[in-house]
Amino acid sequence: MKVKDAMPERRREITSLIHARYMVPVRPQRVIHEDYSVALSDDEIVAVLPHAEAIQNWPDASVTELPDHVLIPGLINAHTHSPMSLLRGYADDMELHVWLRDHIWPAEREFVGPEFVADGTRLAVAEMIRSGTTCFNDMYFFPDATIEACLEIGMRASIGITVIEIESAWATDVDSYIDKGLRLQEQLKSEPLISFTLSPHAPYTVSDETLCRISRLSEDLNFPVHMHLLETEWEIKQSQQQHELHPLSRLEQAGLLDSRLQAVHMAQISADDIEKMAAVGAHVIHCPQSNLKLASGICPLASLLEAGVNVALGTDGAASNNDLNLLAEAQSAALLAKGISGNAEAVNAFQVLDMMTINGARALGRGAQIGSIEAGKKADLCAVDLSAPETQPLHHVVSQLVYAASRRQVSDVWVAGRPLLRSGELTTLDLKDVIGRAQRWQSRLAGLEEALARDLKESVL
Ligand SMILES: [Zn+2]
Repeated sequence: MKVKDAMPERRREITSLIHARYMVPVRPQRVIHEDYSVALSDDEIVAVLPHAEAIQNWPDASVTELPDHVLIPGLINAHTHSPMSLLRGYADDMELHVWLRDHIWPAEREFVGPEFVADGTRLAVAEMIRSGTTCFNDMYFFPDATIEACLEIGMRASIGITVIEIESAWATDVDSYIDKGLRLQEQLKSEPLISFTLSPHAPYTVSDETLCRISRLSEDLNFPVHMHLLETEWEIKQSQQQHELHPLSRLEQAGLLDSRLQAVHMAQISADDIEKMAAVGAHVIHCPQSNLKLASGICPLASLLEAGVNVALGTDGAASNNDLNLLAEAQSAALLAKGISGNAEAVNAFQVLDMMTINGARALGRGAQIGSIEAGKKADLCAVDLSAPETQPLHHVVSQLVYAASRRQVSDVWVAGRPLLRSGELTTLDLKDVIGRAQRWQSRLAGLEEALARDLKESVL
């Protein structure tokens, strides 16, 4: 990418320096720097250079020392439903459609509103920052409340203009989902931390007419389209029965199969579908733990990468995972890819780190701003302390990070140059308050579950 500063680096005003024992900038590829520094000017990375040179250039700059750490780009969670953190553990060990129909949708009908969404977003963002995530791609109701919470915390997010042909407290029909979402986007289009996607929920909850409308909007506004796709066998059967078409063919007919598409899950993707995705440059968001837990299938990561498809990683919502831990998601993705392809060389640790960072940025249409540690990009950074016995000895920094490190080793996180986690402590969130709010929702949800169980018993009698 083009370095923005025309004047020599040393003459730019540097607001801070971060010195790290190790740095993996992700771009250039497969590079591990030792004793390196990042120079920041407000929200931007100005230079990436050897430690000794940085001290010489800017002897008076304020410095964060990371003597036992690896500094990497902030992680990008390319698919989640952040407010669903309040439904973590609420309904487990059941198949996707029973889970949605009998538990999640009734709970959402009863409780989803601005307060639920704001409290759930705060809980989710607290967890994500503590796991090294600096940007998330969200799909939910009341996106205004999600945005407000993100701006209050200083978190970067890509916000879905959710479209689903089911009435909710947020919107009554397709027109109102789209109109309210677009109005919000118009109000916030100059907010640097927030970007938008059009988010039709899934092929089984959106009509052909709506898919065509979203396709036109995506083209006119150049918005990415964020959608659950080919998640289960049921979805494909339902599409064949109702539309006499495979879901991917429906999207193709609607004009949605292009480089703006972020196809989430793809656990039921065939070899032909992979070719189609590769040919148009569509992105796949792989959520291995959600797919495993809901027994939806396994997305063939190795084949997708081999075909040249850009694959990013997502946690999905905490109700179906049950955490928002991208490092663990990466470990699952790597091991599953090797296991199902029968090839231990299938996906290597550097590729997995790409999936957590630059591939996510590209899928979100933000590859020029985030996803790597390069001059001119936004200062979204994550430091992982590798001094713990769990990641020693350090034969290979990226292997330790991908295969051995836990999120508990994430020590410092910056979004747009602002420290949101400092030595393990959140700087812009009161954790006690966040957890207290979550516990109040736990009581309300428990009351609903009891009422649902009572209704079910009465209907059986
Ligand atoms: Zn999802």
